[in-house]
Amino acid sequence: MMPPALYIHIPFCSSRCHYCNFYFETGWNERILRNTLDRSLEEFQQYYRELGYPGISTVYLGGGTPSVIPPEMMGDYLSRLFRLIRRDNSFPRVMELDVEANPESLSRDFLERIAAESREHCSTLRLSLGVQSFQPRILRSLGRLSSTDDIHTALKTAIEFKSDAPLPFALNCDLIYGAGEQSLEDFQEDLQELLYYEPDGISLYELTVEERTPLAQAVAAGRKTVADAPRLDSLWALAQETLGEHGYRNYEISNFSRPGKESKHNFAYWRLRPYIGIGPGAVSTLPFGSRPVRIENPDLFEYRRLDFGQNLLHPGPGCPGPAPGNPHGMCPGKPPKMLMLMGRCPGIFPADQCRN
Ligand code: SF4
Repeated sequence: MMPPALYIHIPFCSSRCHYCNFYFETGWNERILRNTLDRSLEEFQQYYRELGYPGISTVYLGGGTPSVIPPEMMGDYLSRLFRLIRRDNSFPRVMELDVEANPESLSRDFLERIAAESREHCSTLRLSLGVQSFQPRILRSLGRLSSTDDIHTALKTAIEFKSDAPLPFALNCDLIYGAGEQSLEDFQEDLQELLYYEPDGISLYELTVEERTPLAQAVAAGRKTVADAPRLDSLWALAQETLGEHGYRNYEISNFSRPGKESKHNFAYWRLRPYIGIGPGAVSTLPFGSRPVRIENPDLFEYRRLDFGQNLLHPGPGCPGPAPGNPHGMCPGKPPKMLMLMGRCPGIFPADQCRN
């Protein structure tokens, strides 16, 4: 088996952004953070064992907001994670570690701890910073916690860190475009402000109205709007032109980078390579017998009750396996990993195609 990528979901945020429909929790404390991280290592260890220790190609810490983890706790976590991945340095280094952060919770100490623990184990460290906009009224409209000052401070912290980082370090920044109140000039300003910091990569995300979000409610009530298709086209064309002029290449749908600075982790998804997802709400795509299957982890409450001492990738006794002709999938409405861990059914086949 080729080394899978590893995605670690850190489902903790300080507040809720109005457009967000990812899985995250805002009610947490240090004990919950530590327990969740500990559990995710148990989960990883079990997957790794069952897959026959294939090595890991890239690691991505996403969320949620990984930068809410206190620096010391994050350092300790990465130290234990890399010891497991590399089996006490007998396995090759990981090609890339990506860490997501939000401006208001990023600190120099956080970056230093990560770098200290990854310098021996990773070829590149990549920080993915959620800038989204520099305009105070757009940040407010998106429900972002960070202020414009927080964003400039975080960018300066990252740039200063880069100049003396103990391993190759790349900075990627996210921008969101398409808020109803955003003009072309606003977006041009956002791009120019960001380009001043010369990040290695820029990800542009179109603001979409997701169900059951505060944004969806505000749009339904007529309190907010989002850009229509012609304006989205204009915003996108502006970005393509501006970033192209500054040497960025649009290497993936929403991602631009300087040559050679592309995210290696993202390629694992686009090339349909296997990946292990650990942590509450994470998703994995892994071989199950001769087929790839998608496995979704439950939320934090259920995740804390899972038993990682049992097989994760093998059916329990009495499981009939997939129906013929079923490519992959999962039972809708069931907490699949729970069922799988209880040893009753892998729970990863669509209800209408499961032979149970
Ligand atoms: S910080 Fe990210 S994950 Fe958390 S609510 Fe905002 S968009 Fe969602």
